[in-house]
Amino acid sequence: MPSAKAYAAHQAKEPLKPLDLQRREPGPHDVLIDILFCGVCHSDLHQVKNEWGFGAYPMVPGHEIVGKVEAVGSAAKKFKKGDIAAIGVLVDTCRTCESCKEGLEQYCEGTIVWTYGGVEKETGKPTYGGYSTRIVADENYVLRVSPKLKLHEAAPLLCAGITTYSPLRHWGAGPDKRVAILGLGGLGHMGVKLAAAMGAEVTVLSSSPKKKDDAFRLGAKRFADMSNPKSFTDYAGYFHLIIDAVSADHDFTKYMDLLKRDGTLVLVGLPPKSPAILPFALTAKRRAIAGSQVGSIKETQEMLDFCAQHGLGSDVEVIPMQKINEAFDRMARNDVRYRFVIDMASLKA
Ligand code: NAP
Ligand code: ZN
Ligand code: ZN
Repeated sequence: MPSAKAYAAHQAKEPLKPLDLQRREPGPHDVLIDILFCGVCHSDLHQVKNEWGFGAYPMVPGHEIVGKVEAVGSAAKKFKKGDIAAIGVLVDTCRTCESCKEGLEQYCEGTIVWTYGGVEKETGKPTYGGYSTRIVADENYVLRVSPKLKLHEAAPLLCAGITTYSPLRHWGAGPDKRVAILGLGGLGHMGVKLAAAMGAEVTVLSSSPKKKDDAFRLGAKRFADMSNPKSFTDYAGYFHLIIDAVSADHDFTKYMDLLKRDGTLVLVGLPPKSPAILPFALTAKRRAIAGSQVGSIKETQEMLDFCAQHGLGSDVEVIPMQKINEAFDRMARNDVRYRFVIDMASLKA
């Protein structure tokens, strides 16, 4: 069985420490990937801290994976040795339910095999994520990466990119649409780039005034400092769509008032607790609050190709694996511009 070096949370809330792993022997449709880069998503931090209450340990986080194919199974068709390949948030689903058949397997009504914290169908063992040197996955759940993309900048597309791309597409971001991105973090900064590339008028709603110049550089036309109460009156009733990518608890009702009639606020952020929403904020202008979870494999490929076509990657700070606990601390303090990406060479040396 292929061995791998990894970093794991051995218990909830503990710093990550080294762990040696065995990956499964690649089956006929599997690819074995030598991981080059892995992005650090705030979901990794929520999970390591067990903020959602379903963490399983030891946990090897990481679901923004880019690497090189080291070996393929006998029936694999999509990849060959040496290809660049990527893995996102899920590595398998039931493949038979309505959502899977419709190509929306991120909403599988059966069991989703998450890249980490899931249960491998082939072995019944826990899945371990991308903070490691190698991974094995079914090629149907593995993505292709254009040579036009820089690999360290492409890794965050596998979660931050697709999680914002999918709702922007679903709710029709484009010319003549006023789109707000709430929370300029890993997801938020990709949301700005993608919505701008789709032709929407983009506004960043942020609690960090010092991110204003970055917001414009990333493609926003407007920046609203939400720590200033005046912003809530300035932008009342303004937006068609708000993508809420905030990782911390906050009051949704205040933000609903920024929507036009028939506008939608889409939650992609997953704060541990959520305050109640005032029904009048919805009924008064037929507004909606919705949620969205990553994207399908087909849509993830479409997003990667869209990014290659438009020259879009993530703004990253590359770190060695050994700096992960420091990176988590900085992410918790909202001190990241805009995604940490682990260079897995640091674990192979
Ligand atoms: P991140 O890089 O840490 O960014 C979160 C942003 O939230 C920060 O940049 C900050 O933006 C804002 N924020 C942080 N603390 C805040 C506070 N106390 N009050 C107000 N705003 C605050 O996180 P991320 O990786 O982008 O992830 C964002 C959220 O999406 C997480 O909850 C994550 O679990 C979730 N997520 C969901 C999916 C899905 O499928 N739905 C997929 C991936 C991640 P400003 O400085 O601009 O205010
Ligand atoms: Zn993620
Ligand atoms: Zn399914």
